[in-house]
Amino acid sequence: MAYRTVNPYNNEVVKEYPNATDDELQAALATGHDLYESMKKQDISERAKILHNVADKLREHEDELAKACTIDMGKLIGESRGEVELVALIADWFADHGEDLLKPEKIDTIATGEAEVQHHATGVVMMVEPWNFPYYQIMRVFAPNFMVGNPMILKHASNTPTSAQMFADVVAEAGAPKGSLTNLFLSYDQVTEAIDDPRVQGVALTGSERGGTAVASAAGKALKKNTMELGGMDPFVVLGDANMDDVNDIAWRARIYNDGQVCTSSKRFIVMDNVYDEFVENLKKKFAALKPGDPMDPKTTLAPMNTERAKNKLQKQLDGAIAAGAKVVYGNEPIDLPGQFFKPTILTDVTKDNPAYSEEMFGPIAVVYKVHSEQEAIDLANDNPYGLGGIVFAGDADHGAEVASQIETGMVFVNNFMSTLPEIPFGGVKLSGYGREMSHIGQMAFVNEQLIVKA
Ligand code: NAP
Repeated sequence: MAYRTVNPYNNEVVKEYPNATDDELQAALATGHDLYESMKKQDISERAKILHNVADKLREHEDELAKACTIDMGKLIGESRGEVELVALIADWFADHGEDLLKPEKIDTIATGEAEVQHHATGVVMMVEPWNFPYYQIMRVFAPNFMVGNPMILKHASNTPTSAQMFADVVAEAGAPKGSLTNLFLSYDQVTEAIDDPRVQGVALTGSERGGTAVASAAGKALKKNTMELGGMDPFVVLGDANMDDVNDIAWRARIYNDGQVCTSSKRFIVMDNVYDEFVENLKKKFAALKPGDPMDPKTTLAPMNTERAKNKLQKQLDGAIAAGAKVVYGNEPIDLPGQFFKPTILTDVTKDNPAYSEEMFGPIAVVYKVHSEQEAIDLANDNPYGLGGIVFAGDADHGAEVASQIETGMVFVNNFMSTLPEIPFGGVKLSGYGREMSHIGQMAFVNEQLIVKA
């Protein structure tokens, strides 16, 4: 496996990184385990201070970090900056709230004596992360586990090694002890070796069903607790009385943000018949206004995709969808630039037997469905193997929330863009995985909830 930074805007090979050796992995496990033992005796407030330092250092290095992210995977520079600001916010939130969240909980029990649940670290966490938000994906695991005292080993995506190393360097510069976060350019076999090691007690993966299945199997075989944050086919439901100005303003962004390479991008637009034509016309206009170009230039509004492989895979999926009867109402044309650009595309007439009905397309392709009743919209939203997020637009937000609660996903936003913040949980059901990151729930992912009963 080659870890390298290839700029998807101009295909320049910027930097290559050697794979980690087995000795490096063993050293990281030993350092991590020693740190776990020593952090047991450390006051949690000391870690809170360091985590605030991490947030400060991230803000101080925003410029370099944002540029590295854009060069690694092509994200628009403004979005890269937004990501760095978000991860600093997450670090501050866990630094402010971790201690309270991890306090012992008294239990009212008829057992003799006093009972409480204490929250302890469990050991090294092996994290496997994807390229699409190279900093955010690390921080979702790093902040809560650092607070509880679990050291971490990071295997990041092979196409974002520079961002991965820069994040680990910032953590070290902020004063986190050695072993708090060790970034290693590991092979898949070495990831399995780490998961098998008794010093590792938790496994966190964000990625595809393919990566998730492999890593969850290894974790299951070794009986290690794991969280899986996997793909999505999020519905964007537009009810007949929705405010169409808001819908038109948000729908295109819900698909195009990060060039459509977001697990919670709206991938299926389910639109009531009375507003369908207006919806499609507006989406076409919004897609047509996007300007491809250098993602470092703040005037560019359409970024390249992250790799040539990803672009080719998406084109193959689009060709398959068309061969199976989908109609292209916009897009499916080449963009005359050397980088990995993909023209935003709108598909209709996707039937249940079309692979595009149930296969995640990780790039700027929107599938639009016309429905004739609210129940049909809910049934279509749920007729999918994934269950990550979703958006419902309704004239009345309370009614929208009633519809939202009938959608089988982990998160639904009503009359708004889907966002992610430290205080709200993130995760899904069905093929989108299990467990939650962020918030009070994410804080407890790899914690020993130890019962102590005093007579
Ligand atoms: P991926 O191929 O599964 O890769 C994710 C990570 O897993 C990478 O570090 C990858 O390493 C590693 N990996 C893959 N197979 C592995 C194996 N057998 N053993 C050990 N590590 C392995 O995912 P992707 O396609 O790049 O990422 C996009 C996917 O992630 C989409 O499906 C998206 O929806 C999902 N995603 C989910 C969330 C969420 O929170 N639910 C968030 C973002 C993205 P290499 O790079 O070296 O292959």
